[in-house]
Amino acid sequence: MKKVFFGLLFTFILIITIFSLNNKAEANTNMENNKVVFNFNTKTAKLNSGYEIPLNGIGTYSLLNDECYNSILFALQNGVRLIDTAYIYRNEEEVGKAVKDSKVDRKDIFIITKLYPNQYSYAENAINEALKKLDVEYIDMMLLHHPGQNDVEAYKAIEKAVKEGKIRSIGLSNWYIKELKEFLPKINIIPALVQNEIHPYYQDSDVIEYIQSLGVAVQGWYPLGGRGHQKELLNDKVLKDIAQKYDKSAAQIILRWNLQREVIVIPGSSNIEHIIENTEIYDFELSDEDMKKIAALNRDEKHDWY
Ligand code: NAP
Repeated sequence: MKKVFFGLLFTFILIITIFSLNNKAEANTNMENNKVVFNFNTKTAKLNSGYEIPLNGIGTYSLLNDECYNSILFALQNGVRLIDTAYIYRNEEEVGKAVKDSKVDRKDIFIITKLYPNQYSYAENAINEALKKLDVEYIDMMLLHHPGQNDVEAYKAIEKAVKEGKIRSIGLSNWYIKELKEFLPKINIIPALVQNEIHPYYQDSDVIEYIQSLGVAVQGWYPLGGRGHQKELLNDKVLKDIAQKYDKSAAQIILRWNLQREVIVIPGSSNIEHIIENTEIYDFELSDEDMKKIAALNRDEKHDWY
């Protein structure tokens, strides 16, 4: 009887041990697989929030009034599905109107907007204000525009809005390694995306790798160097030579280079030819050699202060 009892006990402990080891292995595999994977067929990536984000979109900084409305409407009617706006750009209303008028299914459009630091102390109201201006039932992603006073409280207000269904995913902008290390232990929902300055003259590879290692998507602002700098970048001899080789423009080479480093792009434009050109980046692939040539252009040259 005693033998049977100990035999059963031993079998039970063995089963429990195997089961927990299996579970651990699964958890580890999940950890290793937490990378955000770019799907070049669907032109989307799955975020850690569970939502799909388009790999390319349009930025709206400095686009105002009709220029903003017309650019976004044209972009949506020509296949662009990701729009980046912000409270501080003063164009959320125009973006929202273009989304409505485009007749594109709302569920196929991904809208990013941002809270500015001067809104962090009243974030809950600011979120409602953004929903109202955009005139949408939910915002796909809300970013904190910069680190600043009350940013943890503002982030927590966004977390609450996620629970309420007002916002789907959360992100940060202009957060680098030090800022992320300090901020992440203070919040509950890991951000789905970080949006930072990234272009061939400011590649920030260490920061990109760090963010990606957390299972967080990276998005680049000023992909073409930013207004006032884009001419120099687009006339860079290395980029022009590569562009000629692939029968593409220098802008398309830069955007494709970003995608191949798994960086989502949001070039800003109000020019209909450029808007279309900026979507035609999936029918060619840069060789490793050309990726290296572009990597060598890095100058650690920031084009804005933050
Ligand atoms: P950008 O995308 O680097 O460059 C825009 C400039 O490039 C415009 O002058 C545009 O002129 C030109 N351009 C666009 N496509 C082109 C093409 N195919 N060929 C030649 N020229 C082209 O700069 P950005 O718009 O300032 O930045 C992108 C977005 O990032 C912003 O719109 C904004 O949404 C976001 N952003 C975020 C932050 C942040 O702190 N989170 C900061 C800055 C920007 P045309 O209008 O003539 O095409």
